[in-house]
Amino acid sequence: GADDMHGANEGGGVHAAPNTLEPYWMPFTWNRRFKQAPKLVAGADGMHYRTPEGGAVLDSMAGLWCVNAGHNRERITTAIQQAAAEMDYAASFQYSHPAAFQLANQLTAMAPHGAFDHAFFTNSGSESVDSALKIALAYHRANGEPQRRRLIGRERGYHGVNFGGISVGGIVNNRRTFTQLPDVDHLPHTHDLEHQAFSRGQPEWGAHLADDLERLCALHGPETIAAVIVEPVAGSTGVLVPPKGYLQRLREICDKHGILLIFDEVITGFGRLGSSFAAEHFGVTPDLITLAKGISNAAVPMGAVLCRQGIYDALMADAERQGGTIEFFHGYTFGGHPLACAAALATLEVYKEEDLFARAAAMAPVLEELVHAFDDHPRVSDVRNLGMMAAIDLKPWPGRPGELGYELFARCFDKGVLVRLAGDTIELSPPLIAERHHLETITATIRETLDEIA
Ligand code: PMP
Repeated sequence: GADDMHGANEGGGVHAAPNTLEPYWMPFTWNRRFKQAPKLVAGADGMHYRTPEGGAVLDSMAGLWCVNAGHNRERITTAIQQAAAEMDYAASFQYSHPAAFQLANQLTAMAPHGAFDHAFFTNSGSESVDSALKIALAYHRANGEPQRRRLIGRERGYHGVNFGGISVGGIVNNRRTFTQLPDVDHLPHTHDLEHQAFSRGQPEWGAHLADDLERLCALHGPETIAAVIVEPVAGSTGVLVPPKGYLQRLREICDKHGILLIFDEVITGFGRLGSSFAAEHFGVTPDLITLAKGISNAAVPMGAVLCRQGIYDALMADAERQGGTIEFFHGYTFGGHPLACAAALATLEVYKEEDLFARAAAMAPVLEELVHAFDDHPRVSDVRNLGMMAAIDLKPWPGRPGELGYELFARCFDKGVLVRLAGDTIELSPPLIAERHHLETITATIRETLDEIA
């Protein structure tokens, strides 16, 4: 807690004694640099974090694309405390607890186009992705098409860090360092500087890139393909917004060939685009939706997979035919944890009562205006936005890609603004409670700092 963080900094200001920081191997972080000048937070409220020294840090990232209702919402933290006092833990293997059923009911009721009738619970986005891929394979097997095993992802896709997710994901470093599942292939990504630079919202150009799925069908045989997984808007790799008509085209080709379409809505779910889900925003119904992050306002780790009507039924019917008991051999000890369900139920109440998704839709044009004010900045090579997410690509410093990005992050943090840099791309995803002045402070701090260092 906060006291530990004070301890880590004891006597040294920002330069903590190395042995107190060293044992923590931080994920996705430039550890060597961080540990020279750590950036720590010890408290949070609304749009802000608080440093161990008591300074306020304006959060432009909703933590990590996840604290959509803003920090330390009382209704949510109270619900977690009450749930913890009542029952520490219940599995959902063979027995379960009421909150898990309530949450599944609510999620399916709010799911896009009234088309989803079951929810499977996980603890993270990575687990949701691997669960969805396994559901897709199990579905085809149950339907008498066990040869459908190939999974199609997309270049520059991010689907978490488990082996299924990195296989369908399109991040080159993952494929080089680790390995991947057999039987995967990838669509091209949709970002094209020649035709789309500085697009506001959805680019006009690029719907035809979905037709590459026809090429993969011809190459592998459509009857071997189980599923296509895409982020409706690619988040972590730099807010790549789908061209107009692209997702519709993917849906058509999947329908034509009996391929399941999975939307990874770990970021876009729960209001990020100004609607409950991206599927609703784009008017496209996938077969599976992966969720995490905003489902519980990130107050307790949680994820889920929403299943379109017919998927669960196919597995039940097959088990009945086979005379089997357990229909799906998959699950996590902590899936549907009572604390996570309590947090998620309270979070959904907050979203609804404060009409936060509509609020995000109303604020999106302000974010668009502010980020596109960087279009003519000499250090900027592209700017993209949709809903309450945006990215600004910086021209990297020669030598070490990502170094300019880290320097910008570090300086903004010291000035009281948390900005996320993915390499040399600034990513913005503020809590949906953000007001104009918050967004103005964020972009003004970025501009000032960029002008200082670039
Ligand atoms: N899918 C997408 C689209 C994501 O953005 C992320 C996380 N940024 C994940 C999966 C993985 O989620 P987690 O880190 O909770 O495993």
